[in-house]
Amino acid sequence: MTHHAPNRLTTIQIVDDDSAMRLLTRATLEQAGFAVIEATDGSEGLAQFRKMRPDLVLLDVLMPQMDGFTTCRRLRALPQGRETPIVMLTGLDDVESVKKAFETGATDFISKPINWLLLRYRVMHILRSARLYEDLKVSQSRLSLAQRIARLGHWHFDFETDRFECSDTLRNLLGMAEKTSIDSPVDLLHNIHPEDRHRVQKTLEDALCNRHPYQATFRVAVQGKIRHINSQAEIQKTENGAPKTITGIIQDVSEIHQAEQKIFRLAHFDALTGLAKRSFFMKKLSTAMRLTEQSRNQLAVLLLDLDRFKRINDTLGHVLGDHILLNIAKRIRKSLQGCSILYPGSASEDYCIARFGGNEFAILLPEVESKEQVRGIANQLIRDISHPFFLDTCEVLITTSIGICLFPNGSGDHKDLIRNADTALRQAKTQGRDTYRLYHPSMTGPSQDSLVLESDLRRALKNDEFVLYVQPQVDMRNGRVFGAEVLIRWQHPRQGIKLPGEFLPLALESGLIVDIDQWVLRQACRRLADWQAYKVNDLRLSVNVSGKLFARTNVAELIGDIVEQSGIHPAKLQIELTESTIMQNNAKTISHLKHLKKLGINIAIDDFGTGYSSLSYLKNFPIDTIKIDRSFIRDLSNSPSDMAITRAIIALGESLELSTICEGIETLQQKEMLMDLGCYQAQGYLFGKPESMDKFSQTEAKGEQEEKKQAFC
Ligand code: C2E
Ligand code: MG
Ligand code: MG
Repeated sequence: MTHHAPNRLTTIQIVDDDSAMRLLTRATLEQAGFAVIEATDGSEGLAQFRKMRPDLVLLDVLMPQMDGFTTCRRLRALPQGRETPIVMLTGLDDVESVKKAFETGATDFISKPINWLLLRYRVMHILRSARLYEDLKVSQSRLSLAQRIARLGHWHFDFETDRFECSDTLRNLLGMAEKTSIDSPVDLLHNIHPEDRHRVQKTLEDALCNRHPYQATFRVAVQGKIRHINSQAEIQKTENGAPKTITGIIQDVSEIHQAEQKIFRLAHFDALTGLAKRSFFMKKLSTAMRLTEQSRNQLAVLLLDLDRFKRINDTLGHVLGDHILLNIAKRIRKSLQGCSILYPGSASEDYCIARFGGNEFAILLPEVESKEQVRGIANQLIRDISHPFFLDTCEVLITTSIGICLFPNGSGDHKDLIRNADTALRQAKTQGRDTYRLYHPSMTGPSQDSLVLESDLRRALKNDEFVLYVQPQVDMRNGRVFGAEVLIRWQHPRQGIKLPGEFLPLALESGLIVDIDQWVLRQACRRLADWQAYKVNDLRLSVNVSGKLFARTNVAELIGDIVEQSGIHPAKLQIELTESTIMQNNAKTISHLKHLKKLGINIAIDDFGTGYSSLSYLKNFPIDTIKIDRSFIRDLSNSPSDMAITRAIIALGESLELSTICEGIETLQQKEMLMDLGCYQAQGYLFGKPESMDKFSQTEAKGEQEEKKQAFC
């Protein structure tokens, strides 16, 4: 909206050689509350206009020396006269003058003799239109500025008139010159990357045909650079459903795309060797197994472990150790490329090689013909890897052991397959190394240890041997504790305190985790209820919940009941899920999460960044918090890639309006770096190690009293 100086009267300039006209005009308009200035001819009018900047000009056509038309043209040529309404005073029925008046730039005309009663209303009307026009222009220019900043262009097509309009930003984003004619939405496709064009065209045509909204992402090359563009459009229909207009936007999402790619690579591929990480491999394996089942083919998994590699690290150091690992990865790749019999027609990326950790590698061969073929490949790998490495000071020989499991071969899911390959690998190791073994069911009997542990775990649950520890979560800006994460411990009668890593894997495998999770939730809520009742503190507790609980129970109802029975405020409870829990069984999980959210319970994604959630996916889940995984924080100061991913996650959290917590802060340097990146909530040894619930309650209660005391003193 335009703002006029509050005390300034709206000024009307009358330019007329007829003094009677001027007098009457002044009298009429002053009475209506306007200020009036007069000029007796064109050149005086121009000079006065420059000085006084009137809001509207009434301009007589017939004047000696400079006539009204010339005056009008010259007024319009002044920078400050471009937009001011100019009203020409023409003779009655003088159509020629009216025409000429508009040609010279007049806004409107009033014919003489003037109807003095109506003059004020005409003037008011013209002024109002001029203001509306000005407001419109301001808001249009703000809109286009905003769109330019957001790198957002828009377009509009009218089916009835065949008219196409688009913003300048749109042309820029698509790399289209100003002169390129765009006559219809299809013309927008010209500059699209050839590989994307057909798909986008099909989506667009489909949308036009079916009259539903359209969305597509594609690449364009602008000044030799590939940009990623997201485009969306909606069709407006007539009353009888025919398409009337279509309105669309396009936005440059290259940065988001880049961040996504970066996160994808960092999350899925090993930084040292460039090979896939375990999680990515497992995903590929599970897909490949599904395809194999459908096609009735066979696939194989090979687990490779370099023999006595620890010795190399210990004697030669990690730098040389890493150098060797990198070269082993290269040898594995090369060795597989050599076995062309494998994939007569398929691309070499069909296989997948992963580094599972330290010196362990995994290979997925998605299509194998026979055991013999796989044996041949294993032998070749063993040979290729065992070539000596010539280092500066010495020559190093490395051998490898391989465990192989074929599918289908009685194995259940992809985890079983890996477990079986691992069993075969251990056999290869115990039977002399530098060799391979094919898995056979006779190799596995249930291990004695895990059977004992499982029965111990059941007993532990019955006898209340589990205890809850908590670790504070703080706001780094002021050091205040705002919540705590609940972490389970097992108070083993003989072996002492056991950490989750020692017993949760088996609890997960045996399904006992479902009971454990419920026990933890109940205990945590009971504790919150006590805090609430005795006004000990006002903290939020964050409880880890496993994927099994989500898969096997009606988890929303279950948690809802626990919260209700304990009488706690639901916002005081947060549940932590890992990315994989969230991603599995999508529709059901979303509905559970929405239900929980409706109850007022907070939802956090734990260990974020390790499992890779598609960013666009995240928007669909009702999540409150992301917890950045400890593994990114650990090397923050040395690893630019960890820094990049952390920065990207924080930006992502910000743009989705989620709160972000970092885990595992141990040093002041990490703290400072994270605060610089704009992340303020944290958890880690620097602020407090996990401690028993009782101890934590006492310190917190003391802390609160201290604070209250300070507030009163
Ligand atoms: P998490 O949820 O990511 O929990 C954080 C882990 O990081 C905890 O390990 C904590 O002790 C550790 N930690 C926190 N700050 C630091 C630090 O500054 N440096 C280092 N090095 N470590 C830090 P913890 O207690 O061993 O728990 C391990 C995992 O077990 C948890 O990871 C969580 O996934 C799972 N877990 C723990 N309690 C429960 C539970 O009650 N139910 C379920 N389902 N899972 C649980
Ligand atoms: Mg957690
Ligand atoms: Mg975590």
